[in-house]
Amino acid sequence: MSNPQVCQVGSLFARCREPAIQVCQYCARPFCSAHAYYLQDHEAVCTRKPCRARRDDLVAHLEYRRVVAARNGAGLCGIETCGPHPTMECSLCHGRFCSEHLRERLYPFRQGRVTVERPVSACARCWQRRKIWRGA
Ligand SMILES: [Zn+2]
Ligand SMILES: [Zn+2]
Ligand SMILES: [Zn+2]
Ligand SMILES: [Zn+2]
Repeated sequence: MSNPQVCQVGSLFARCREPAIQVCQYCARPFCSAHAYYLQDHEAVCTRKPCRARRDDLVAHLEYRRVVAARNGAGLCGIETCGPHPTMECSLCHGRFCSEHLRERLYPFRQGRVTVERPVSACARCWQRRKIWRGA
């Protein structure tokens, strides 16, 4: 990708003047190699805190889903310390949990420019991570 822009990741008082090498997939700011947090294939994440948090959350969430899937495969609730016979499915990660570990909540979904709250059954982790992903 050719990008003639300069990096826009530096702080307001310490503007980075380096030529941008990529555009952040989360905040859409061009960034230089010094401000690259994650670069692979067509993934590009800058070092701004909210963007790092999203990238880290994605990695942690993949691991979480892997653990939940393995526990579900053994007939157990997705929560590590919990027992057998999960009866409900999380609307967001589709892991299976017991009723104690899923809760009906109003979850904010983004639809274009507006956020629409819809009731979902969500596990605790899916509920937590909405804060990281709110407001793109
Ligand atoms: Zn960013
Ligand atoms: Zn920079
Ligand atoms: Zn979930
Ligand atoms: Zn459980």
